[in-house]
Order: sequence, then C-alpha cells, then structure tokens
Amino acid sequence: MKNQFTGFQTKCVHGGEQLDKEGAIHTPLYNHSTFGFRSTSDLLDVVEGRKQGNLYTRYGLNPTITSVEKKLAALEDAENAYVFSSGMAAEAAVFMTYCKPGDKIICIGDVYGGTYELLSLNLRQFQIETEFILGSELQTLENSITSNTGIVFLETPSNPNIEIFDINKIARLCKKKNTLLVVDNTFASPVNQSPLQLGADIVVHSTTKYLGGHSDITGGVIMGTKALLEPVWIWRKNLGQMMAPDVAFLLARSLRTLGVRVKMQNHNAMEIAKYLATHNKVKKVNYPGLPNFEGHGMAKKQMKGFGGMLSFEYDGDANTTADMVDRLRLFSIAPSLGGVESLVTQPVTTTHHGMLPEERKRRGITDNLVRLSIGLEEASDLINDLKNAL
Ligand code: PLP
Repeated sequence: MKNQFTGFQTKCVHGGEQLDKEGAIHTPLYNHSTFGFRSTSDLLDVVEGRKQGNLYTRYGLNPTITSVEKKLAALEDAENAYVFSSGMAAEAAVFMTYCKPGDKIICIGDVYGGTYELLSLNLRQFQIETEFILGSELQTLENSITSNTGIVFLETPSNPNIEIFDINKIARLCKKKNTLLVVDNTFASPVNQSPLQLGADIVVHSTTKYLGGHSDITGGVIMGTKALLEPVWIWRKNLGQMMAPDVAFLLARSLRTLGVRVKMQNHNAMEIAKYLATHNKVKKVNYPGLPNFEGHGMAKKQMKGFGGMLSFEYDGDANTTADMVDRLRLFSIAPSLGGVESLVTQPVTTTHHGMLPEERKRRGITDNLVRLSIGLEEASDLINDLKNAL
C-alpha cells in the first residue's frame, strides 16, 4: 500500500520502506556483511535466483540497500535502481558494461572534471575512445554516432556553464541510431527533471549531492529498466563498488526531505540569480530560470524547477576573482554541491583544474567563472554575503 502513492514528496517519505517486525518506523540499518540461512537448500534458492533474499552486502543483497534502491527507483519512475560507493563508481560501471575495446563513447557538452578524466584518460587504456562534442557542435551528433558507439553521455544542466540540452531530441536520435543515452541528472535532481520520461535509457546521479543533501555521504546510483541495469550488476559486484549499508541508511534519511529541500534551493537560487544579474561587477549569469539565459526556453520545457546551481563571470581576472571568492563568509569554498549549506568554487581551481587550459578556453570555462551551489540559508543572508564580497 505504502509504495502505491504517486506524489513526489510522498514517494520520498514512503517509497521503498519495508515493514519491520520490531515496528521500526523506517527500514532499519542492517550494517552486516552477510546473512545466515537455516539450510543449504535455503541458501541455494537465493544464490541460484529462485527466491529473493538477503545474502551478502557487496552483492547488494542487504535489506537496507534494497530498500533505498526501491525508494530511488520510485523517485525517477524507474523499474530499477542500483546504488554505488560514489557517482564515479556508478558511471564507470555503466561505461565498462556497455563498451568494449574498439567502441566509442560520445560525450556531449561540459561534464564534471572527474567524468572528463575517466573518459579521456582511463578508458583509453581499454581502447574505449571518447568523442567530445560541444553544445555548439550538436548538429554533428547524428553523423558521429556510428555502429561502434556504445553510449551517448551528457549532463544537463551541465557543469559548470549550466548548459541545457534537449534530452528528448537527443534520445530520439539515439533510438534511431540504436545507441544508449545515459544522462547524469545530478545537477537537476529528480525533483526538477525526469530524463527517463524524456526518453533517456539510463540515469546516473552522484548521491553525494542533492540526494544525500547534507555533505556527509559519498555515493552514486543508476536507474533504468530491469533489463538495461541487469548486466551492470556483475560489474558492481566484482569491482566491489557497493554502497556501504550505513551510507544507504543515511541516504534514505536524506531522501525523505528531498522535495522540500530542492524546492527551497530552487527558490533561493532564483533570487540570487536575479540579484547577480543586476550587479555591475557581474558580466554574465548562467541560470536556467533567467528569461534572457540561452537555455531558458528548453529548461522551461523539460524541467519542473530551475535548480540550485548557477555560475557567473566576475569582472576580474583569475586572481581578483579568487580574492572576491575569499571575501565570502557564508558560502564555504568547497568543490561539492547540493547540500544544505551554500558552497562556492572557481572551477579552474577545483572541478576543472585537471583540464588543459586550451580545452577550458574552448569550452568557455574562464578564469573568472564562479560556481555557486545554493543551500537552505535565507536568500537575503546569501545576497548580503555576495554584496559584501562583490
Ligand atoms: N556527476 C556530477 C555532475 C558531479 O558533479 C560529480 C562530482 O562532483 C560526479 C558526477 C561524481 O560524483 P562522486 O564525487 O560522488 O563520485
């Protein structure tokens, strides 16, 4: 009964929760590595897949893990979800599952620096090449998808320039060309965007961000159909990429307030974007909610809220921009995002530090670009902090 509710925030609270024989109000923390059986034949029923049951935590067969996976699947209206020890672990498992030596990945637009490094450096070692297509080059996508293209990958809104891509249009192209579309939905969160409903095949999140929401856990998740996720299972198992049960328990705790948190972050970010857009030391504001932002029209069409992430170009060079960032008091200088506390970074010093300067230039990731992750403080306090620093 509890899992039949359809309202988003109701799913946040009740999705995946299991009735506990002791009467605990939520699925308890089973912080155990293994589970016992009454007989060898009971054990074999689980090992050989005749019965569902708990077995071994690294396999994901742990009630705290399976419970949070059901909740996560409900939030993206997906058939299934698998959790991982980090967002990078989740991405790596999908790439390893669906690409073999000689295959190609197409990566659209800007992505998290770690993803860029995995694609451009690590996967090359296994003869898996990545073709990077910028947002301005999207017209080349159709011809770029060849028979050896295993995956098309994108983030929207993207990191750090908040570019918006038309998920449905790209998904239709991928279907036509028989390739998988994997969307990193970390920046938007399931509150603001549902890529699977727009035609994506697999959604990935760093649960370290909005889903965890309190900057105190590291994790990842993939969502999609049972058939598409099933082959990833053995990679997660044998690469040992499982989320720890205590992390899964904390993640479930955080997800219960996801809708409430993100709606306020949307509201705060809008207020701050509007304020920055009027400031004479700010050259450009990247926020999908601003009517004159390039991606506004598309964001309005495919997103339910504009999100808590924004970036802006300060009227200064790398050093004066760093000085301005250092004058902020309420915002912490930190490379993550999506938590209850507001964070600031200069991408050239953090998320995109590892990228070659020429490549950053090509992508418009300028030295004076500042990224903000807006938290749950009062918008007026955040605006005052920015006012003093600017
Ligand atoms: N995807 C995005 C958009 C990110 O910002 C990050 C991390 O910052 C990741 C994936 C990787 O997540 P994790 O740090 O949990 O491995």
